[in-house]
Amino acid sequence: MAQLNDNFLKLQKNYLFIDIANKVSAFKAAHPEANLIRLGIGDVTLPLAPAVIEALHKAVDEMAHKDTFRGYGPEHGYDFLQDAILENDFKPRGIQLERDDIFISDGAKSDTGNIGDILSLRNSIAVTDPIYPVYIDSNVMSGRAGDLVNGAWNNITYMPCNAENNFVAPIPDHAVDIIYLCYPNNPTGTVITRERLKQWVDYALQNHSIIMYDAAYEAYIQDPSIPHSIYEIEGAKRCAIEFHSFSKTAGFTGTRCGYTVVPQELTARTADGKEASLNQLWNRRQSTKYNGTSYIQQRGAEAIYTPEGKQQVRETIQYYMENARIMREGLTKAGLQVFGGENAPYIWFRAPQGMTSWQFFDRLLEEVHVVCTPGVGFGPSGEGYIRLTAFGSRENSLEAMQRILTWL
Ligand code: PLP
Repeated sequence: MAQLNDNFLKLQKNYLFIDIANKVSAFKAAHPEANLIRLGIGDVTLPLAPAVIEALHKAVDEMAHKDTFRGYGPEHGYDFLQDAILENDFKPRGIQLERDDIFISDGAKSDTGNIGDILSLRNSIAVTDPIYPVYIDSNVMSGRAGDLVNGAWNNITYMPCNAENNFVAPIPDHAVDIIYLCYPNNPTGTVITRERLKQWVDYALQNHSIIMYDAAYEAYIQDPSIPHSIYEIEGAKRCAIEFHSFSKTAGFTGTRCGYTVVPQELTARTADGKEASLNQLWNRRQSTKYNGTSYIQQRGAEAIYTPEGKQQVRETIQYYMENARIMREGLTKAGLQVFGGENAPYIWFRAPQGMTSWQFFDRLLEEVHVVCTPGVGFGPSGEGYIRLTAFGSRENSLEAMQRILTWL
């Protein structure tokens, strides 16, 4: 009889969004008249930019004609999108990368989840706590996380991020092979300074570690001193892989497109002690297991980099960031200790009066009719914290703050 991958059976069920959905359904059944405001889910709500829509239409029309029809594309993406990325996301920041360093994908979830394919199962892992769950679960699936002992995976180093360290991961006091960092951070909405990121790069170079840098929210950075890419730090091309997504940058959560940077300078050791290029391995992995992001989506993504596209995308981000400002101010006025929301679309705050994350969630739902996300769902260090997202409407953001202020 065929044997399954037992590692999948070790996965902890992620009850977070199921529990939230169940509680919200029960509440709605009991209070059908309630005007519920949902500030929990991390999905965008505004439509794609007109420049993107136009480009998508044009690409669809190309597919309708024999002369312009496209079949299979290059697995690593079309030159036109790689060039637009190099010109706009990296060159202005003084980062020299090449086309071959850029792998277009269907988003950052797939790539952060799949990247472990090209790395040995013997590598040790470090993650921040709280965390975007894909980093841990994908390592559990491959068997790299080890076993769950007292609620923690025994081959994973957890780096608690809390108010005391300003939600910036403490650097481990021992060598770790692979480190997952995400800034601006989901769920805490906090960022990392250039100085701190340099310390991480220095640590990685010294220990021959690889940093998996998730920059899915970099477009939300408002403070010019905050790095948008780890490659702004000297030496990072030798120790980091960076993940980008058009999901939150430009509303592609349903359209699907992103990219991953695997610099050709980046190497790792083979079992017999030689050094080999990870870029070539990732290229091979993608060519074998991925058949490319659709031409239509890539044309849509390219339009983000046109002058009109840039302006339209910026306006949408500013809309969400104004929601974030309203929420930050509202919660602060209500006497809460608030983090994030200045360079990210997430607001993170401590529940008052020592309430647990779920206690606060229940009361906010029952008494205020606002849905939030309990921080503990992102890891044990999230206990006692709450995440709100700025992806809702202006009206709902204002109304929710008014209700919370009156309530508290
Ligand atoms: N990385 C982080 C930190 C995220 O929060 C998300 C989505 O919420 C993703 C990656 C996934 O992005 P994509 O839609 O490109 O798969």
